[in-house]
Amino acid sequence: MAYDFDLFVIGAGSGGVRAARFAAGFGAKVAVAESRYLGGTCVNVGCVPKKLLVYGAHVADELEQAAGFGWTLEEGHFDWGTLIANKNREIERLNGIYRNLLVNSGVTLLQGHARMTGAHEVEVEGQRYSAEHILIATGGWPQVPDIPGKELAITSNEAFYLKDLPRRVLVVGGGYIAVEFAGIFQGLGADTTLLYRGDLFLRGFDGSVRTHLKEELEKRGLNLQFNADIQRIDKLEDGSLKATLKDGRELLTDCVFYATGRRPMLDNLGLENTGVELDPRGYIRVDEQFQTTEPSVLAIGDVIGRVQLTPVALAEGMAVARRLFKPEQYRPVDYQNIPTAVFSQPPIGTVGLTEEQALAAGHKVQIFESRFRAMKLTLTDIQEKTLMKLVVDAETDKVLGCHMVGPDAGEIIQGLGVALKAGATKQQFDETIGVHPTAAEEFVTMRTVTR
Ligand code: FAD
Ligand code: NDP
Repeated sequence: MAYDFDLFVIGAGSGGVRAARFAAGFGAKVAVAESRYLGGTCVNVGCVPKKLLVYGAHVADELEQAAGFGWTLEEGHFDWGTLIANKNREIERLNGIYRNLLVNSGVTLLQGHARMTGAHEVEVEGQRYSAEHILIATGGWPQVPDIPGKELAITSNEAFYLKDLPRRVLVVGGGYIAVEFAGIFQGLGADTTLLYRGDLFLRGFDGSVRTHLKEELEKRGLNLQFNADIQRIDKLEDGSLKATLKDGRELLTDCVFYATGRRPMLDNLGLENTGVELDPRGYIRVDEQFQTTEPSVLAIGDVIGRVQLTPVALAEGMAVARRLFKPEQYRPVDYQNIPTAVFSQPPIGTVGLTEEQALAAGHKVQIFESRFRAMKLTLTDIQEKTLMKLVVDAETDKVLGCHMVGPDAGEIIQGLGVALKAGATKQQFDETIGVHPTAAEEFVTMRTVTR
């Protein structure tokens, strides 16, 4: 049977665009439908605008440090409106680049919501298209617990478009987004409190990293409240918000920002017209080659709920394009040793196993840990400490994990990701000549076992 397209991609985000472009490059006839914004979450309301706001907040650190280097600066003034307008301009530029990337690679771009009407059929704006393969790359959406007053809260989607910087912000959650946005709000001058329901935020990260970041954020004056959760939110007559906690405490604020995880975006997708099934967590169930329980339908990215990171969605998109249209180049996605950064202030960089994971997996571990004041701070009064940690298998000498909290952690950890991928041993770390003077050289000069 002749189809309109070889591949119909639903969602022009990180994964969808990658799959579409490469499939078209391999000679396939490809369409992409996008209902909202080209580039998806990452470009519009995720990685990119977030990092721009993090840079903005970081300027406060530079200003604070300036006096130690002899600079006298006049009283600074921050204007939220300018930052957001400049950020919006950059995002629009990127939207245009994504459009050109798709169009120039021969992909048919359809604007509108896509709904599957069958195993080989998609409807967009009343028009039906047939395709041999359909790829679901619809991403995720913020999830706010169902509490009274939840409509008064915002999520990351709205935070990027706030008209003004709130004077007081309550951030709820203890994952990537909560920690990053707490740093953004506080760095830009808002009186910020982070509420997390458990004992310590960033569950799943290395224990030393979690404790170290907690201490550093507290040094910066961020109000961290653990074992705390909101029961209800009320709007007061003066326009401010009252958050009543489960323990009865009442906190007044101007903005409640929820970052309590993301759900798969399946709204009106027409799954019921296909044999696509969900896994017990509600994400689309796929096999190791991203095929759903409907043979003609595949799914990648946040909607399958594996690792919700842009580079992972890109790798999955690439794997699908190759599997379908260039099978001789197909390579499975390797989910081991994915480097990642949390762009908190200071940031976290991490790759490989945490100490806790290594122990749970039965490794005998040697821990190398170092805490030091970065050279840049020695001429200032700032007492921030950098943490670096290596988790090493005591029997094979293989480095199992590298963890860092400190300036440029994301930049530094990328290179160590290559080392771990190559299976580097601690001896090879030791034999690597350092770059002096940098903070990164500490990773190749830690000689004494801490534990
Ligand atoms: P998305 O990028 O979400 O794209 C899905 C697209 O599908 C969207 O454009 C959506 O409009 C469209 N769509 C949905 N349903 C339909 C439909 N029915 N019809 C047509 N179109 C549809 N990751 C990192 O690696 N580093 C970071 O620093 C980082 N920061 C983040 C910060 C925030 C605040 C958030 C929310 C996420 C961040 N992420 C980060 C995660 C990253 O953005 C996601 O993992 C990534 O975007 C997932 O890509 P995707 O292709 O699966 O989905
Ligand atoms: P996460 O899953 O990382 O964190 C969710 C947080 O909310 C956890 O601390 C969780 O607590 C808490 N939580 C969940 N449900 C509730 C509830 N009902 N009440 C109170 N607290 C709750 O989600 P995020 O929204 O922060 O981010 C989504 C994903 O996006 C990340 O996991 C990451 O993959 C990606 N991302 C990546 C970034 C990067 O690479 N720098 C930046 C931003 C996002 P508990 O731990 O107790 O379950």
